[in-house]
Amino acid sequence: MDQVDCVVLGAGVVGLAVARALALDGREVIVLEAASSIGTGTSSRNSEVIHAGIYYPKGSLKASLCVRGRQMLYDYCEARGIGYSRCGKLLVATSQAQVGQLQGIIDKAAANGVHDLVLLTREQARALEPQLECVAAVHSPSTGIVDSHALMLAMQGDLENAGGVVVFNTPLARADCSGPSIDLMAEDGTQLRATTVVNAAGLHAPALAKQFSGLDLRFVPASHYAKGNYFTLSGKSPFSRLIYPVPEAAGLGVHLTIDLGGQAKFGPDVQWVESPDDLLVDPARGEAFYAEVRKYWPALADGALQAGYAGIRPKISGRHEPAADFVIQGARKGAGIAGHEGHGVEGLVNLFGIESPGLTSSLAIGAFVSEMLQK
Ligand SMILES: Cc1cc2nc3c(=O)[nH]c(=O)nc-3n(C[C@H](O)[C@H](O)[C@H](O)COP(=O)(O)OP(=O)(O)OC[C@H]3O[C@@H](n4cnc5c(N)ncnc54)[C@H](O)[C@@H]3O)c2cc1C
Repeated sequence: MDQVDCVVLGAGVVGLAVARALALDGREVIVLEAASSIGTGTSSRNSEVIHAGIYYPKGSLKASLCVRGRQMLYDYCEARGIGYSRCGKLLVATSQAQVGQLQGIIDKAAANGVHDLVLLTREQARALEPQLECVAAVHSPSTGIVDSHALMLAMQGDLENAGGVVVFNTPLARADCSGPSIDLMAEDGTQLRATTVVNAAGLHAPALAKQFSGLDLRFVPASHYAKGNYFTLSGKSPFSRLIYPVPEAAGLGVHLTIDLGGQAKFGPDVQWVESPDDLLVDPARGEAFYAEVRKYWPALADGALQAGYAGIRPKISGRHEPAADFVIQGARKGAGIAGHEGHGVEGLVNLFGIESPGLTSSLAIGAFVSEMLQK
């Protein structure tokens, strides 16, 4: 059996960021990817927003890794010529009842170290975005957008320049974690013996972890899938900043994002589904979008929205449970489920529930895992 130092499972933005960080630490790294290219999972089905770090509970991994990752991401994009825009966003209250929530959001952001939010009156918000309808708004100048595919290509380039490789069309089937090293078996029969294994299989990470003999199943969370559907706008974007309503329970509300080409899309909504492959967008869901969007953009014309694409949030908390934090689970230390214990398997790191802001946090997750493995 071939022996390697580190194996990362999954070449989404998080797996690539972790693999890059480990390779830059001087470690030998192989990434096993089920698909035929990088970033074909959730990493290519999101809003491409660089989040500021506003909403997450103080002290959570989501809060700290988003704030750290956002700065790392802007610096990385600048250094590597990856397309991005620090376009800013407006978080809008569309009823008097929501205005009180805006101050709560500003306070929550400040507790996370985000101190640049500014409360705006309706007039101030409309001076920035004349087509916007709202009662009041919060401006977040450090929110932006990124070309996520260019980002992943740059990460893959760094990994390969540091001697790492990505092996495509090689889904891992199972692992044996009961010995001093971890033995991996791919679906095509390929076998590898590794010192360190990082499970970054996104939506499939919990199911894969259940195939790791020697790992106590108490440490593997249940998978829940919350699909987010997008509808695209024909014609030019009416806004130059991102526009978000006050957040809902399972998502951030039907918001407007723009891409680097200036095209606008609305979404994602929240649709709980049974399968991680349920990616078709039902055009009938567009009806609800019109009503939501017109709360802050009354000029939205009938028939202007087309069904776009969907992504699925890799949730580890169910529909009626409080939102879970990212889980970065190592042998001894880390934010493991079942309290904050480690799972006890030397060399194994499981990444569970890496939903939004996973793209923003990716470089910080890479650094976190690298630091965790050095301890
Ligand atoms: C609708 C939506 C909108 C979002 N918007 C944002 C946003 O605007 N900003 C933000 O910061 N975050 C956002 N996110 C979150 C972000 O997209 C994810 O956190 C991030 O893409 C997760 O990356 P990943 O590498 O963990 O997973 P993935 O991109 O899903 O990668 C996992 C990889 O593992 C591979 N794999 C699976 N099983 C195996 C196996 N057995 N063996 C080998 N390989 C395997 C898959 O093929 C895949 O390539 C959004 C998420 C969703 C769903």
